[in-house]
Parts: sequence; C-alpha cells; structure tokens
Amino acid sequence: MAETETVATPEPETVSGFAALGLDPRLVAALTELGYEEPTPIQREAIPVLLTGRDMVGRAATGTGKTAAFALPLLHRLTRPDAPKARPAALILVPTRELAMQVAEAVHKYGRSLGVRVLPIYGGQAMGQQLRALERGIEVVVATPGRALDHVRRGTLALANVTAVVLDEADEMLDMGFAEDIEALLSGTPKGRQTMLFSATLPPRIAAIAERHLTDPARVNVAREAVPTGEAPKVRQTAYIISRQHKLAALGRVLDLEAPAAALVFCRTRTEVEELTEALAARGYRPEALHGGMAQDQRDRVMRLFRAGTADLLIATDVAARGLDVEHLTHVVNFHVPCDIEAYVHRIGRVGRAGREGVAITLAEPREHRMLRNIERATGQRIEAARLPTVADLRARRLELTREALRGAIVEGDLDRFRVVVEALSGEFDVMDVALAAVKLAHRAEGGDVEDADIPVAPPPQEQRFDRGPGPGYGPRRPGPRGPAPGMARLFISLGREAGITPRDLVGAIANEAGLPGRDISGIEVTDRFSLVEVPEEAADFVVEALNGVRMRGRRVAVRRDRGR
Ligand code: ADP
Ligand code: MG
Repeated sequence: MAETETVATPEPETVSGFAALGLDPRLVAALTELGYEEPTPIQREAIPVLLTGRDMVGRAATGTGKTAAFALPLLHRLTRPDAPKARPAALILVPTRELAMQVAEAVHKYGRSLGVRVLPIYGGQAMGQQLRALERGIEVVVATPGRALDHVRRGTLALANVTAVVLDEADEMLDMGFAEDIEALLSGTPKGRQTMLFSATLPPRIAAIAERHLTDPARVNVAREAVPTGEAPKVRQTAYIISRQHKLAALGRVLDLEAPAAALVFCRTRTEVEELTEALAARGYRPEALHGGMAQDQRDRVMRLFRAGTADLLIATDVAARGLDVEHLTHVVNFHVPCDIEAYVHRIGRVGRAGREGVAITLAEPREHRMLRNIERATGQRIEAARLPTVADLRARRLELTREALRGAIVEGDLDRFRVVVEALSGEFDVMDVALAAVKLAHRAEGGDVEDADIPVAPPPQEQRFDRGPGPGYGPRRPGPRGPAPGMARLFISLGREAGITPRDLVGAIANEAGLPGRDISGIEVTDRFSLVEVPEEAADFVVEALNGVRMRGRRVAVRRDRGR
C-alpha cells in the first residue's frame, strides 16, 4: 500500500467512482446526495456484474455495504426503458423485521429519483395495511420469508412478474429456520429471473440453495482481504462494543478519558461527518469537519488549522482525509468498523509514526464483531476489546486531575494572600472543612463531576471470551446436568406458549434488539408460562438489558439471568 506522504490536499469529488461502475446517473446523483464518496470493495466488484443480469453469490462481512451492492444494480435494471412493466418486479428477502425496514428504507433512498416504490412487509404489522399497499402497485417488496409466504398463500402477493430476487443475509435467514419458506418462494418465481444471494458466511447449506436455485452464479468474496505482513503499523488498538444509539455518548467518553493531543475521527459519509461534528460541538468539543462536499478553500483552511495544532479534533471521511499527513496525530478513532481491511490499516497507519505511541480506537456495534475478527486475522495484530469507561471511572479520573492541580498550586507557593480567608473561616469552622470546600470549588473549576448516565455496555467479541484472563464468568466451566453449555448463560424470559411465543419469536427479538446473530443463540425452550434461551456468557447482560420491557406478541417481556428452577 503506497503512502501519499507529500499530497497536500485531498482529491475533489470522487462519486464518479460509482459512475464508473456503469450506474444510471440518477442513482449516482442520489448517492452524492447521501454523501457516499466511494464504492466499498463488495460494491466495486458486484455492481458491474449484476448490471449484466447475471446471478451472484456474494460474501462480505457485516457492515461492508452489501445492501447498496445489490440494490443499486437492481434499481438500475428495473427502470431501464426496455424493462418489463408488470409488478411487483423484485423481491428482497431478509431475516428480520428490523432489516426489512432498514433495507426498504435504503432502497427507497437510492431509488426515490427513479420513482421506484418499495414496501417492507414483515410479521407483527397489520395485514390489511400491507395488502392495500400491494394492490396499489409496488415495484420492490422487502419481506421476511414467513410473511412473504403468508401473502402468497392468501393471493395478496403475486410472484409471477418477479424478475429479480435477493436473498439478503442468507446465513441469518437459515439460522432462523426460514430454509423451507425460501425454497417455496423461489420455486414460485419465474425461471428467467436474476437471483442474488448475499451473506456474511457461506456454510454448506447455503451452497446447496445456490446450487438448486441460481444459474451459473458469479462468485464475489471480499470477506478476507489479506494484508501483506509488515505493512501493518504498530499501534495500540482498542475496540469498544457499543449499540448504535449510544455511540455518540461513547465517543465523548473515550475522548474525555484519552484526552488526545490530536485526533482524527473517521465517518462513512459526508452527512455523518456533518451530524457528528455538530453533535460534538453541542457537547462542548471543538471539532472541525472535513469531507469531499466542502469547497476546496474550506478544506485547505481546516487542514491548515489541524496541521498548525490550532484544531485538535478532526471529523472526516476516508476520501477527504486522503493525503492528510499530520506529524503530531496521536489518535485515530473509527466511528464504525471500516468497510474493508485495507481502509482500516490505512487509517491507523496515520498514527504511531517515528517511534511515537499511536492509539487506534474503534467503536463497533455488536453485529460487527466478526469484522473485527477478520481484521485481526488479516493484520495479525490484536485489537483489544475494552470496556467503556464508566461514570465512576471518569469521576475518579477527574478527582485525580483536581488533586494534581492542588498539588501543583501548593508546590508553586505564593499562597500568602489567601491566608486571611482561611484564618477568618477557621474561627467558625474546622480547617478540614474549609479545605474540603476549597477543593470542591477547585474541582468545579476543573470541569466538575460527570453528569452523564452510564452507557449500557455491549459484550466484547465472543470469540475472545477466553482471552480475558480469570474473572467471574470468563473461565471455562463444567456443564451441570441441566446447566447451560460451557461459555453460555441461560436467560429466563417471562413469556411462553400461552402468550403465543415461538422459538422463532425469541431468536428474532434477540437478533433485533441486541444484534446477536441467530447462530449465537441456543438451548431454546418454550414452556406454557415462560421461555429459556442460552446466549454467550459475555453477551448475557447486554441481551437482558436490550430485551427487558420489549413487546413480544403485544405483551411486555421481563428478562433476567435464569437462577434455576
Ligand atoms: P451490510 O449489509 O454489508 O452489513 P450495509 O449495507 O447495511 O452493510 O451498510 C452498512 C452501512 O454502510 C450503512 O449505513 C450504509 O449506508 C453505509 N454505506 C454503504 N455503502 C457505502 C459507501 N459506498 N460509502 C459510505 N457509506 C456506505
Ligand atoms: Mg446487510
């Protein structure tokens, strides 16, 4: 990987990266609008092939942009002038309700300017409403397999005109027991259709489905990009696993604790750069934004401030930060796990130059932990899964800073003019109390106490659970006669068969709420009044927290660690 040491300014607009793939200019414009600057590796490889109409088996880790990889060519082909006009023309199958909404939202955003109508259908939504929408004529249906099949059987969803089918997150769909539903749906669609299968992993069961239902598929695999050894820099690498809604707070806390001399925070899109810059400014930081949508002179200004050390917190996209070479940079923060390994290596290569210690921090969502493992494997370097500092940690750290400030003031001397204050008060109060009050004021002046609430901490990557040394719950254990499997914790869930709960509901809810993939959930038992599941020990507290109070089949559920029957 060549370093661009001497380039002074980032390259201008690069959305042409998408145009070069052969996409409709209106789609390229939509991506510019969304702030995408460059295609990710899976997008670069998949889009040109899918535009030809060929079937595909695509594999790439979570968070690498698979949705756009299939949705963009799908929208392009659906709206070309000679495309068949009968509806619905495309069916996208996804494992969960949440993904149905997310993918439908993405397809809507990409295809808005093409006038494409998309409808998510999933369990738990009133059938009538979905049905009326279908009658109005919808181009793209995004559905969980079970619900799609319900509609087909009731005659409210016709598959006869479908020209494209996507199996998204295929491994998850199989883990959730949708294999038969998928087979039935595929059998009900016309022979000449284009079929795209995307997955983070490709177990044999998926190969079997591809064998039966895909025609001469192109195979794209970007899951394991190897990085030549020796290129990866030596940097302290830490990951915090955190759910999406707490990322901003987590970033603030990490910045507070690390107090970086100069930090570069990477985002995925221009929009995100702007949002994050604004949010951090609102929290009292002084961040500068840098992205490809800014005018050249604006970008030059920010670069100058940063190089001169006047600005110390820069929020940027990869493309805009290209060529930014700052001597004194101490911290690189990935606000998400980057889309490809090379990007990760390139980012963290900016710190730790010339023998100084550099720090790379990655905020990862629970569902992205596999991508972290891939990066570790490819770079041969460890990314330590750390616990987010708690409010108590921060308080302790701030008291430490106050103590240091007071110590400095005593050593410095020149305190005589304050003696009169202490003497006046010592007649009335104990001198210790006077000192305590003075410390309180000094502490407040130093920034004071942390007002934040604690941030729920997600489990670190479960593959690393035995790396963490001794401690409660981390060691291997013997399975008791009815105890959970080794490394697993059993959870009690307050709803059961009488509430209409099925194993699929449980897996779905845990996947949706805690982001835990189906394959990490086992030992499911549904009794009349309650249910039990087993999840990886380190994920247990997070799952309890995420699931507690959530509605399942219309009823609020209580969840706790099972204490045995
Ligand atoms: P996957 O399906 O592989 O897990 P997604 O399709 O959900 O990943 O994409 C993850 C995130 O990356 C989404 O927020 C998406 O908007 C964003 N994203 C996708 N492609 C790009 C790109 N080319 N540039 C910037 N962000 C992107
Ligand atoms: Mg996806």
